[in-house]
Amino acid sequence: MSLRTVLSISVAALMGSSLLPAVAVERPVAGVSEKLLTHQSVFQPPRLIDVSEHVTVAYGYTMSNIVMIEGDDGIFIFDTGMRVEKAELALTALRTRTSKPILGVAYSHGHGDHTGGVRAFIPEGSDIPLYAHRNALRYLGDVTSPTADVFRLRAVQQLGLILPEGVEGTVGSGGGPVINLGGTVSYLTPTHLFDDEVTIDLGGTTVKLFHAPGDLDDGIGAWVEEDRVLSTGDTVVGTKTHPILSTPRYEKGRDAEAYIASINHFRDFGATHLVGGHGLPINGAENVSTLIDSTLLVGRYIMDETLRQIDAGATPAQTAAALRIPASITSGEEFDDYYHRLNWIVRGVYNKEMGWYGGDTLELVALPPKDRASKLIEALGGADSVLDQAEAAYSDGDYRWAAELATELLLQDEDHTEALSIKANSLRGVAYQSDSANERNYLLTEADLMLGDIGMNVIFGQAFARVTELFSEPKIPDLALAGPSSSFISKLRVRSDVNRPMDEDISIAVQVTDREESFQLTLTKGVMIHDRAALRAPDATLMLDHRSLILLADARMTWDNILDRDAVSVSGDSVKLQTFFDHLNWD
Ligand SMILES: [Zn+2]
Repeated sequence: MSLRTVLSISVAALMGSSLLPAVAVERPVAGVSEKLLTHQSVFQPPRLIDVSEHVTVAYGYTMSNIVMIEGDDGIFIFDTGMRVEKAELALTALRTRTSKPILGVAYSHGHGDHTGGVRAFIPEGSDIPLYAHRNALRYLGDVTSPTADVFRLRAVQQLGLILPEGVEGTVGSGGGPVINLGGTVSYLTPTHLFDDEVTIDLGGTTVKLFHAPGDLDDGIGAWVEEDRVLSTGDTVVGTKTHPILSTPRYEKGRDAEAYIASINHFRDFGATHLVGGHGLPINGAENVSTLIDSTLLVGRYIMDETLRQIDAGATPAQTAAALRIPASITSGEEFDDYYHRLNWIVRGVYNKEMGWYGGDTLELVALPPKDRASKLIEALGGADSVLDQAEAAYSDGDYRWAAELATELLLQDEDHTEALSIKANSLRGVAYQSDSANERNYLLTEADLMLGDIGMNVIFGQAFARVTELFSEPKIPDLALAGPSSSFISKLRVRSDVNRPMDEDISIAVQVTDREESFQLTLTKGVMIHDRAALRAPDATLMLDHRSLILLADARMTWDNILDRDAVSVSGDSVKLQTFFDHLNWD
């Protein structure tokens, strides 16, 4: 379900009060863990931190650090923050240090909290070089693929972007201060891609960029030899959080072994200062090596203990529940659940090694969820009894069990209003006690979405965007404009529907005119396949630009409106072309 769909449902729930679930239980008293609040206080206030003679960090302006390296001839920007407006504030502050020109910009990796502010540093029409590892282009395919909306929803939940700020909502992201939906997320396609390393001369100072896969396979580090400053992206950070070998959000390009190898690589530099993508800079050679070494041992331990547990026949859930970091290997450094929780990371590592099957053969023949729920509810004395037990568990503060019971009721009846109320408020109950900012944000957002309890600013923002789109050209995110056309061809492909079969197969050629790319799609029995003209001549050809392809694939415009666009033309059998698009699912 896309974020847009989720929010639409919430709007409907809010506008029609009859749709609002009945209150079975009162919302729990809001609270925040003191430990988490103390952790979050580190990210305030926004300020410049001088790391060394040539390196300054704009800290706390946006979710991640913006690093400025200054040479005689100009400055280099390593990472751009998450929003243009916040990045502009950071740049204004950095400009109090120097007015030298920007000689280059780099992304430490492709995540939006490091790329979103780029337009603040590279204005329209400027030819400032933008550096990134070559895999940045591969990642663009991931974040524009058919699963991108769900991925984005997970990121919105994780970061608490649609939550109110404060005791009832978000207190930050674990890796940075509170951020919300407001502002502009920009993206520019890197102009200078490299494979291994590249050194940029800033005049009297150099910055070496080198491949160091971490959060993503396009991860890079930056080394300023003259000041012995190492920037490590999100792979080693001073935020007291676990090395992120995996996340519930999930990334195809995150590889635990490559991540650990990069931490190992960082040891080679003998740096005097370390600037992570998040958190305060670390100063002093000994402090830097202690942090890198402990992060390496913790990462290696998580990986190998998971492998040992797999070897011992443990399931993912058993492994995740039991794994702890021994204090003996951390050299006094703190690694805690403030960002992604350890048990989530362990599950992810297990899953990437062994897939979904945990080794209990019952999993291979398990009852479908709905059947299991029916039998379980019956065994527990019927639906009324289960509801009573859920309410009792909720009253006792046994929120996890209350949510489990409510979930079984919802599997049987997704509109069960009391169960919805118990589950959502149970999630809140867990969230208010959590030391993990991500866990808190995930649970509180999910609860709000379940009950249609979304802030009016979000609802009006969404509604306003939809209304303005009726009258003007829809605004397309930079990321989609930069993404490969093949991603949007895939989005079009998954609109095929076996419940809408046609009498005959129809094949169309799609030419993306401004990219000089062609695709041939054949719709057969409600399944769309990629085809080749040598095997089957297309019945019609659709010529359109990348922008129109996005609008079509994302159903931001109807097929008829797409045909009216200047950049769109067709040839061949127009009846078959119409039939082809009529048989796709546009819901
Ligand atoms: Zn980050």
